[in-house]
Amino acid sequence: MDSRLLALNADITTLAIDAIVNAARPSLLGGGGVDGAIHRAAGPELLAACRRLGGCEPGDAKLTPGFALPARYVIHTVGPVWRGGGHGEAALLASCYRRALFVAADRRLASVAFPCISTGAYGYPFDAAARLAVDTVAETLALLPEIERVLFVCHAERDLAVYLRLLAGRPL
Ligand code: ADP
Repeated sequence: MDSRLLALNADITTLAIDAIVNAARPSLLGGGGVDGAIHRAAGPELLAACRRLGGCEPGDAKLTPGFALPARYVIHTVGPVWRGGGHGEAALLASCYRRALFVAADRRLASVAFPCISTGAYGYPFDAAARLAVDTVAETLALLPEIERVLFVCHAERDLAVYLRLLAGRPL
């Protein structure tokens, strides 16, 4: 596996890195989960900046500053809502990772941290989402040598164990 990929347990809002990725709502006007945590930590300027973006389609990604966060930027992406797997969910989720990395590369950002998009309120099965995340990021980084580090940020020991197995190339 690409040595630029790492997994860790952390609150993504505490990371001092070029960009953290937000698993946002299509309105970009805030929500629960990681989105709520990012808005609380970034302060009200983030919501004002998001308002100016005019929403985001599922599978797309848009950039704002990080404001009060230790991260310089936030890349907002909208994952698919899990509806059984037969509604293009995997393609949309892969697009989130790809688009977020291209947005980062366009700004010459070298380090990006992802939460496990769609696996909270949006209900995507965790193991399948993590596998798609690792495979898609590895494929995309092959096109983006300027990106030096991608972190998969987990919020539970069990989730981290899944990513560590995937990164080690072991079966789940
Ligand atoms: P979605 O609506 O895309 O499912 P959620 O925020 O509900 O987004 O959950 C996405 C993932 O983010 C879940 O795996 C959840 O455990 C994780 N998560 C929630 N809060 C944080 C945080 N502060 N830092 C990192 N990951 C988080």
